[in-house]
Amino acid sequence: MVHKLFIDGEWVESTSGKTFKSFNPATGKKLGEVQSGNKKDVDKAVKAACNAFDEWRLTPPPERGDVLLEVAGLLEENKQRLGELVTREMGKQISEGKGDVQEAIDIFKYMAGEGRRLLGHTTTSELENKFAMTVKRPVGPSGLITPWNFPIAIPAWKLSPALICGNSVVFKPASGTPLCAVELVKILEEAGVSSGVVNLVTGSGSNVGTPMVEHPDLKSISFTGSRKVGKLISRKAGLKNVGLELGGKNPIIVMDDANLDLAVEGAIWGGFGTTGQRCTAASRVIVHEDVEQEFMDKFVEETKKLSVGNGMECDIGPLINEDAVEKTEYYIQKGKEEGAELVIGGEKREGLFFDPTIFTNVEPNMAIAQEEIFGPVVSVLTASSLEEAIEIANGVDYGLSTSIYTENVSKAFNAIRDLDAGLTYVNSSTIGSEVHLPFGGVKKTGNGTREAGIEGVEEFTETKTVYVDYSGQLQKAQGID
Ligand code: NAD
Repeated sequence: MVHKLFIDGEWVESTSGKTFKSFNPATGKKLGEVQSGNKKDVDKAVKAACNAFDEWRLTPPPERGDVLLEVAGLLEENKQRLGELVTREMGKQISEGKGDVQEAIDIFKYMAGEGRRLLGHTTTSELENKFAMTVKRPVGPSGLITPWNFPIAIPAWKLSPALICGNSVVFKPASGTPLCAVELVKILEEAGVSSGVVNLVTGSGSNVGTPMVEHPDLKSISFTGSRKVGKLISRKAGLKNVGLELGGKNPIIVMDDANLDLAVEGAIWGGFGTTGQRCTAASRVIVHEDVEQEFMDKFVEETKKLSVGNGMECDIGPLINEDAVEKTEYYIQKGKEEGAELVIGGEKREGLFFDPTIFTNVEPNMAIAQEEIFGPVVSVLTASSLEEAIEIANGVDYGLSTSIYTENVSKAFNAIRDLDAGLTYVNSSTIGSEVHLPFGGVKKTGNGTREAGIEGVEEFTETKTVYVDYSGQLQKAQGID
């Protein structure tokens, strides 16, 4: 079956007449086929979003919230089926596949509640009989562009705040995981989202993404993906509101007083969970020199226990595609050339599978300690103090997630204060966001927007300042006569 585009409440074929296939990265088998959208399809979808905008904007937010709650309920009913689809299409381990759907359920529920908040503020006026407040308005028809690694959750992180704030959207999912997007949009349709409010255009970054970014009638672009594409988008988007959630090179610091068993569990989960294909993956571990040997022994021992294979049965699923395998191989070769010591892994298996890999003797300036690999590769670095560990942790371009394992409250709070990142975990891995707290990074991980939490609505709203003068006379601010 060839899945269609969803434009103005109808499932339609692309004007390109072309389609592309989605494959299971674990088996190489074809899962389905979708439309190869193009600029004409984008134009139609934007037109539909513009036409639907006023009615949706004027729908009371609690009513919009009811629709979001309906979406959450339908996702819950379909969690098993969708979780399996996530694993089949993206490759992650099955409980993580279901976790992807759970995250979407959580954010739709959470944002439904925003329909009864969307808080502005009231404040004083410098003049008598004058009232001052702010209100939130939707930013306007918005473009949502998402990656493949959380194929249900990340679209949900964008769709739910965009919709609760009263925006209509054009949604372009990653080409690696279009079927998850189709299923999610079917659920939005079933939940009763009005025609034109949500439009889905599948297709490539250049044929669909670029026309969206350049379209004059889309008022905002919310993008999650690589730094390379993020930079391109910020150049092309002109004066649109742009939200950029980009990559990471996230460190776990393990201090000499840490609970090492716990730290090892965190390093395994952070480094190899989702086969390292998370923006928050712990691709660096910075260990205090006094406990390095003990930590390494345990880390390697636990890594050996991980099973690699189809995510339906194994701990470590496949990488998403050949490019990802090549990229991982490139960095492993680079690490060896730069003098790091390969302790375990480093081997590609048949298909898109890769053994969990650990390097030691890594220097902070090596490519494997600086650049996002997005595969199951962990670089272990050594530090002799908390200060040095924090300096190494901060010594990269990215600033998404960070973690410290210590039993010392003062060290923990020093790290919370000094780590340059959007997230810091204490005695937990770099992974584990909850939807009622904001998510996002500093430095080159993005442009400062935050998703989820109460901050999550900022990206999709404008603040209007309102003055109501009930004095019956012209009053001038700043003491002007
Ligand atoms: P990607 O940048 O290759 O693609 C992301 C999306 O952008 C896809 O839908 C793609 O088709 C589209 N795209 C590609 N070229 C485009 C263009 N010229 N104009 C407009 N759109 C275009 O990223 P990916 O490989 O899908 O995802 C992996 C990256 O995403 C990693 O760097 C990861 O760290 C990052 N990521 C970040 C977060 C976060 O919240 N910070 C979360 C998940 C993933």
